[in-house]
Amino acid sequence: MRQKALFLDRDGVINHDPGDYTKSLDEFHLLPGALETMKAWYDRGYKLVVITNQAGLDKGLYTQDDVEQIHQFLQGRCVAMGFRIEECLYCPHHEGRSGRCLCRKPGSLLIERALHRYGLDPAQSLMMGDKPRDVEAAEKAGIQGLLIPVNEGPLRPEMLGL
Ligand SMILES: [Mg+2]
Ligand SMILES: [Zn+2]
Repeated sequence: MRQKALFLDRDGVINHDPGDYTKSLDEFHLLPGALETMKAWYDRGYKLVVITNQAGLDKGLYTQDDVEQIHQFLQGRCVAMGFRIEECLYCPHHEGRSGRCLCRKPGSLLIERALHRYGLDPAQSLMMGDKPRDVEAAEKAGIQGLLIPVNEGPLRPEMLGL
């Protein structure tokens, strides 16, 4: 049996989205309960993968080092709680600057890359995001997408009967 996974958007799902960009670790504020909910999914056998658009990179608002620092911090918090994120994949492109890429959601390239890399079964996986483009990207990759309210944290598995 192939592996099931929970794909998560980052800003507005795991951390508070102020409405523009989360540019540095100083601006990265975990939503209450988000880590506990991620652990609940992990404990049910779901691999965790974060898929995030970071067009602020292309706009020069922050650097890849800033993004990596945030993701290392996030992973550290997860590991301290006894679970881990498989990978945080991000698109650094902005449509106006780099032209249209395949990795920026609603593109599904990053999701497909993770499916392949970790042997994940799209039919047993789901994706949560706070924007329609998150759901669109998931569906392109054959995964059920769930639109959730911004800044309220991911849905717990028992809320979905899982
Ligand atoms: Mg978001
Ligand atoms: Zn891209």
